[in-house]
Amino acid sequence: GRTTSALLYLDGVHVSFDGFHAINNLSLTLEPGEMRAIIGPNGAGKTTMMDIITGKTKPDEGTVLFDGMTDLTRLDETRIAELGIGRKFQKPTVFESQTIEDNLLLALNVDHSVKGTLFWRGSKTEAERIDRVLETIRLTNARNRLAGSLSHGQKQWLEIGMLLAQDPKLLLVDEPVAGMTDVETHQTAELLKEINKEKTVMVVEHDMTFVRELGVKVTCLHEGTVLAEGTIDQVSSNERVIEVYLGR
Ligand code: ADP
Repeated sequence: GRTTSALLYLDGVHVSFDGFHAINNLSLTLEPGEMRAIIGPNGAGKTTMMDIITGKTKPDEGTVLFDGMTDLTRLDETRIAELGIGRKFQKPTVFESQTIEDNLLLALNVDHSVKGTLFWRGSKTEAERIDRVLETIRLTNARNRLAGSLSHGQKQWLEIGMLLAQDPKLLLVDEPVAGMTDVETHQTAELLKEINKEKTVMVVEHDMTFVRELGVKVTCLHEGTVLAEGTIDQVSSNERVIEVYLGR
């Protein structure tokens, strides 16, 4: 089979729904350690691309390789998640009636029902991992609070933390700052930059202030393919991008 130094490699990918080409010759490469911002108008194919990467949707044509040589088009969603691809959907889905710490334990598949008994010590590595995640998402002091009591922004960070607890190689994040305050949006940019020191990240987002703050390479999708790619200044001054997306 083919090999690549990229962590994620899409080449010539096509997906159609009832003859409609949602993804139309999409090629995109993510290097290990990179963070990439994906922008583009509604219907551009951003969600479908994430669905292809996570195995929810199978391409009709094209190559999707992960971690050098693993062909994702042949694997189901569970297996792809196990390989180390974590996906954060737009809406927060945390266990509201559980504590923040228990949410992270659940993400680790720890049987939390025995936590707090004489017998539960947890594994040291798991406890350490949770402590680190709590630090990263800035919720250490809130660890015993119910997740339902968190702000919308904090719930988003907790869910990102739940993915981090699973130690993915690639984190896919869909519109994380939708509905956030300006302060939360700024803090989310800081959080993703922190996470990106260790993880490869792909983030779909419409908020251009946020994308600019990330300071990473930007890919603009349109009609299921790459319209423009480059720095935020390059992409946001691209005439075709202005026409189909920014100029509306
Ligand atoms: P984005 O996330 O960029 O808004 P999507 O990936 O959701 O774009 O959609 C791309 C195009 O594919 C849209 O025109 C959408 O209507 C269409 N589409 C997506 N999923 C389906 C589906 N399951 N069946 C039919 N059409 C779909």
